[in-house]
Amino acid sequence: MKFATKVIHAGIEPDPSTGAIMTPIFQTSTYCQTAPGEHKGYEYARTQNPTRSVLEANLAALENGTDAICFSSGLAAQDAVIKLLSAGDEIVAVNDLYGGSYRQMVRVWGQWGLKSKFVDLYDAQNLEKEIGPDTKLVWIETPTNPMLNIVDIAAICAIARKHGALICVDNTFASPYLQNPLDMGADIVLHSATKYLGGHSDVVHGCLVVKDKSLAERLKFIQNACGAVPGPQDCFLILRGIKTLHLRVQRACENAAKIAEYLASHEKVGKVYWPGFASHRNHEIAKKQMRMFGAMVSFDLKNNSLESATTVLSNTHLFSLAESLGGVESLIGHPASMTHASIPREERLKVGLTDSLIRLSVGVEDVDDLIADLEKALRSS
Ligand SMILES: *Cc1c(COP(=O)(O)O)cnc(C)c1O
Repeated sequence: MKFATKVIHAGIEPDPSTGAIMTPIFQTSTYCQTAPGEHKGYEYARTQNPTRSVLEANLAALENGTDAICFSSGLAAQDAVIKLLSAGDEIVAVNDLYGGSYRQMVRVWGQWGLKSKFVDLYDAQNLEKEIGPDTKLVWIETPTNPMLNIVDIAAICAIARKHGALICVDNTFASPYLQNPLDMGADIVLHSATKYLGGHSDVVHGCLVVKDKSLAERLKFIQNACGAVPGPQDCFLILRGIKTLHLRVQRACENAAKIAEYLASHEKVGKVYWPGFASHRNHEIAKKQMRMFGAMVSFDLKNNSLESATTVLSNTHLFSLAESLGGVESLIGHPASMTHASIPREERLKVGLTDSLIRLSVGVEDVDDLIADLEKALRSS
C-alpha cells in the first residue's frame, strides 16, 4: 500500500457488528467475560481499547513499524521511553530540542539519577565524541525546534547502534508523510500527535512506533503499568485527522516554501531558517531523508529588536499568536517567551535562539492571504 492509501485504510476495517465505516468510539472502561478468563481479547480499558487498537495499527503502518503504542500526550510517550533506562544511565540528546522534552529530561529524570547531555549534532560525528559507556539512549529531533536544523538520521543511528545505545527520533516536525526514521535505522519514533497527525488543534495525544517485538512488549508493559493512556474519543480524533495527513502536509509545505522565499527577500527580515534553501547548512541531508522540506519557518528581524518582533507578533490576523503547530490554521510564535521559555537564556543563545526569533507554523490557507498578513505586520514593525 502507498502512503495515501495507508492513511485511509491501513489497520481500518468497517465495524464487524454493525458495518459502521468509521471506527466506533468504544467509550467503555471494561468488557464482559463469558466465564472467568474467557473474553474477546479486551479485559480493562487501560490495557486495551478497540478504538486505540485501530489507531495503533494505522500508526504502525504509517511509520513502517510493527507496533505503535499510544499515550495521552507526546511528553507521556517520551516519559515511557525514558522509563526503559535505569539510574546512572545517560541520554545524549540534540541540543536544539523541544523545550518540554528538555525540561522533562533535566528537571524530572535528573532527580532520579539519569544524566542528560545536549550536543550540537549538525555534524553527526559530534555524537562519536560525546557518546560513552553509560549512554543508553540517543534522542534526536529533525527538523529541530525552532532553529530548523537538520540532523542526519542514518548517520546518527549508525553511531548509536555501534555503541549499543537505543535511538529515538522525535518525528513530530516532519510527520510520517515527510520522513520515516525506522527505515533509516531508528529503534523508536515518537510523535506528538497533537501536531500534524491530529492536524486540527483539537486534541493532545502522543505515540511511539517501533519495529522490534520485544521492544514493543517492554513499552506496552510501561504503558499499562504507568497508565498514561489516551481516551477513545481522542484516538478517534487522531484517526480522523490522519485521513487527510498527506493532503494537509503537502499543501502546508508548498505554502511554507513560498513564505520562506518571500521572507528571505524582505528588507526588514534578517536570517530565515528553512531547510529547503540550497544555502541551508544541511540542505543536502534534508533532500536525502525528507520528501518535502516541512511547513515550519523561523526568522529574525534585521534590526534584531525584541520590540519590533513584538510588534510583528501582535499584528498578524490570519497567523494566530499561539503555542503549538501542525494544524490547518497558521500560527505565529515567539520561542524565547513561549515554547522555549523553560530553557535557560544562555543555552538558547548558544543555538541561535535570539530574543527576536519568530517561528511560523504554516497552515493550509491561501498562501497569498498569508503573505499579505505577514507583509502588513512587518510594515508596522
Ligand atoms: C509538542 C511537542 C512535543 C510534546 O508533545 P505534547 O503532545 O505537547 O506532550 C514533543 N516534541 C515536539 C517536537 C513537539 O513539538
